Amino acid sequence: MEKLINIAADKIINSKHTTVFTGAGISVESGIPPFRGKNGLWNKYNPEFLDISYFYKNPLNSWVTIKEIFYDYFGKALPNKAHECVAQLEKLGYVKAIITQNIDNLHTNAGSKIVYEFHGNSRKLVCLECNSVFAVETINLNILPPKCKKCNGLLKPDFIFFGEDIPSFAYQKSVEEANIADVFLIIGTTGEVMPACNIPIIAKKNGAFIIEINLEISAYTHSITDIFLKGTAVEVIGKLFDIIVNK
Ligand code: ZN
Repeated sequence: MEKLINIAADKIINSKHTTVFTGAGISVESGIPPFRGKNGLWNKYNPEFLDISYFYKNPLNSWVTIKEIFYDYFGKALPNKAHECVAQLEKLGYVKAIITQNIDNLHTNAGSKIVYEFHGNSRKLVCLECNSVFAVETINLNILPPKCKKCNGLLKPDFIFFGEDIPSFAYQKSVEEANIADVFLIIGTTGEVMPACNIPIIAKKNGAFIIEINLEISAYTHSITDIFLKGTAVEVIGKLFDIIVNK
């Protein structure tokens, strides 16, 4: 493991363009459970409330569950050491961009600047009538469903629901990153969610060196990964960070 972390550190130090690609695993240590897996949210909740056609028909029902999960519960989550190390690596010039599948805003809260949010962001609400976007802090979620302050249209969290397309800007930028990255650092994602899971595969096809940090082997480990670092995001990124800054 020590030897592998050292090789990974050298690859990042010597790379021209390292892109980080994160999933639920990086936020678990901030207290946000993943959707999938044995302790995942889908074992507790019926995913129907995040289906876009269900939402249009039953906005109040959807919103009661949305508020409970994403605002009352996740809203209190803080970035952990893994988010902070990624932000520091960007600040020091070792990381050029972050692509995240997470909607929790924790990379931005940790200080990361270039963050492409593949599935959108829960901290913003978008009006389905006039497309105005509001910071969730400015909207009263004690009255559900929340309405637009400009046109009284229905507000929806600005992350994608089942049945919606990937935000086009984030998608284009992610593919661009996969085209230019020479090192691609996967953190805490098992590669099961389409089409996000294809981004590292595009990077590999374009010649990127793939470093993977995951607690368990994933769909990537024996297919595209060059170096697999087994462990939690906080533990492994912490070590990797210390080696990089002390070289
Ligand atoms: Zn509106």
